[in-house]
Amino acid sequence: ALTDKLTRLVKEMRGQARITESNVQDMLREVRMALLEADVALPVVRDFIARVKDKALGQEVMGSLKPGQALVGIVHRELVATMGEGVADINLNAQPPAVILMAGLQGAGKTTTTAKLAKHLIEKRKKKVLTVSGDVYRPAAIEQLKTVTAQAGAEWFPSTPDQKPLDIALAALDYAKKHYFDVLLVDTAGRLAIDELLMQEIKDLHAAIKPVETLFVVDAMQGQDAINTAKAFKEALPLTGIILTKLDGDSRGGAALSVRQITGAPIKFAGVSEKLDGLEVFDAERHAGRILGMGDIVALVEQVSAGVDMEAAQKLAAKVKSGDGFDLNDFLGQLQQMKQMGGLSSLMDKLPAQLSAKAGAVDMDRAEKDIKRKEGIIQSMTPKERRRPELIKATRKKRIANGAGVQVQEVNRLLKEFEQMQGMMKKMKGGGLMKMMKKMGG
Ligand code: GDP
Ligand code: MG
Repeated sequence: ALTDKLTRLVKEMRGQARITESNVQDMLREVRMALLEADVALPVVRDFIARVKDKALGQEVMGSLKPGQALVGIVHRELVATMGEGVADINLNAQPPAVILMAGLQGAGKTTTTAKLAKHLIEKRKKKVLTVSGDVYRPAAIEQLKTVTAQAGAEWFPSTPDQKPLDIALAALDYAKKHYFDVLLVDTAGRLAIDELLMQEIKDLHAAIKPVETLFVVDAMQGQDAINTAKAFKEALPLTGIILTKLDGDSRGGAALSVRQITGAPIKFAGVSEKLDGLEVFDAERHAGRILGMGDIVALVEQVSAGVDMEAAQKLAAKVKSGDGFDLNDFLGQLQQMKQMGGLSSLMDKLPAQLSAKAGAVDMDRAEKDIKRKEGIIQSMTPKERRRPELIKATRKKRIANGAGVQVQEVNRLLKEFEQMQGMMKKMKGGGLMKMMKKMGG
């Protein structure tokens, strides 16, 4: 939706040289919608839009930049600034064992993340790690931590449902001291923010074990309600960091912005799979792109500066949004549009500075050659084959390879890439251009 609407507005604005009160209002309305669609909480959106507006109207001379381009740049920079630049690893700056308390709603991913962190601290920081579960309400929760702790290669301190969480934590702390552990990770019961009793329990736990890190684990798929959860936990505990889980899902992850703004705590890590290696250092740049829809930004910038085949682009966007019917013709269309943009390298120059710096790691020359080869392969296919790639078996592959002057393996590789792209398009609903470029750069 953001693409369509901003596209129209940018078209109307083309030729206007400056950001003015009236054109910025229209654009901001669309940005606001996009943020709400990404599930950023309403009050956070309001604040954010106000800041962007100030900055946008404050810009006097935009140089060669057109207003649309400039505004997208401002929005992007403000998103990054709000979510926090720079990375903050886990703070272990304490008399060992450094205690880490995990807090968050039921199902947020605390237990999984506890094991992920254990693995991270063992492998990346060479620490001796102990875990313990204070979740005495569900016997299965203690067993779950035992299992994932073993997978992480850490040690697990036993607890049972008839114990008090406070006693469990203190016993584990004592054990950790005696056995020279560097880190003690304390997993806690899943609680609902409104549950006063459980909130009091974790407060008492915090007071007794004095953690150096109190991490708020929050599900990226949580929508508008993230703000209430974050408020409740911030009031109860001095949070030192946030871990955003389930970023591998479909959501645009607007919760990051809400939670960061409400708690003021840095977002330290992102969970990107159920597996224990699915933990990444949180990247505000990349996440800003995700919230806005990276494909949207690229499309917008491109249009403002060059003027692409709008109709084709919209058709493709509609197809992709419907989640099916993405075939090799569309794939070819994408490749050709990328060329039409005047070369990937020149497109990169048009992106906001931080974005192009990131993309700069890609070998553009190679990427462009690669596009041409792929184009050649698809052009050697019959229209029917392009519509129904599943028809392409051994004999056809050989014919196509001959026609394009490549090896059969290369045809296979293209088909595989197409399949991945098809899957990705469905998942990302059109935001996949950046990923695609990276892929093509090898
Ligand atoms: P807890 O109640 O807060 O301890 O949450 P759990 O750690 O038990 O996780 C709840 C569910 O979310 C489990 O099925 C996990 O496998 C899943 N989960 C946790 N983190 C992630 C993640 O980053 N990505 C995905 N896809 N699933 C996750
Ligand atoms: Mg749990």
